Amino acid sequence: MVMHDKPVALVTGANKGIGHEIARQLAAHGVTVVIGARDVALGEAAAAAIRGARAIALDVTSADSIAAAAARIRRELGRLDVLVNNAGIANGGPRQATTMDAIIQSGVPSTTPLAEIRTVFETNVFGAIAVTQAMLPLLREAPAGRIVNVSSRVGSMTTISDPAYPMPRVGGVAYAPSKSALNAVTIAFAQELAGTAIKVNAACPGYTATDFNDHTGSRSVTEAAREPVRLALLGPDGPTGSFSNDAGPIPW
Ligand code: NAP
Repeated sequence: MVMHDKPVALVTGANKGIGHEIARQLAAHGVTVVIGARDVALGEAAAAAIRGARAIALDVTSADSIAAAAARIRRELGRLDVLVNNAGIANGGPRQATTMDAIIQSGVPSTTPLAEIRTVFETNVFGAIAVTQAMLPLLREAPAGRIVNVSSRVGSMTTISDPAYPMPRVGGVAYAPSKSALNAVTIAFAQELAGTAIKVNAACPGYTATDFNDHTGSRSVTEAAREPVRLALLGPDGPTGSFSNDAGPIPW
């Protein structure tokens, strides 16, 4: 088995958007990046734009796909230092790219079909847990394993319950609860892994112009990737079990 000589990072959903920019910035820091993409052709095109990057087929809702990705990383690189659980969807309907109004409509608590809520949780929560579980054996072998969960401020119950919050209903009954759950999952893994070399943190990229919101977001992917990348490269004195954006800690 080979053992790659540089740190290796896997970024899920990295064929576009914030995930692709996280991958690009990590590569600029000398990390060998693996672009996780459920459509491997899109992943390969995205990897071609980043020096030294490679693509891997990875659908975070498929146990077989996750297991195959973990086996391939072990076989081809022999190590994994960083996992960024970035893959995420805004709603469980047929169309992801939506206006802010459509995102709100897609999560109305009284009418959103349970199947759509399950679809969002499958990717945003169970997908992140499953990928983390599959990659943990490799991460445990790394000298300084880092797990970053790409969350959202709407996962902060302190924020969304504040009457002054300007986007009160945007997270609805599916997306915001999925990110609250991802935050709780972040704490759970951080607690289990306390005392190991692995740190587990959640980051909010901010409202960012991507396909996720028909490019209505006010931030660039360059800005959005900053905090996830910082957490991916944390030194030994950095936090674990935290939730932050590039302005600092976010209340749970
Ligand atoms: P995006 O442009 O829509 O990209 C989402 C990525 O996730 C795509 O690569 C997509 O792949 C991938 N993905 C979706 N389902 C997947 C699955 N089952 N398996 C593997 N990959 C899957 O969205 P983005 O804005 O970059 O969002 C990235 C993350 O940031 C998400 O977790 C999102 O919740 C979070 N976030 C975004 C914003 C924002 O304003 N944009 C704000 C807060 C948090 P395909 O290309 O195949 O669909």
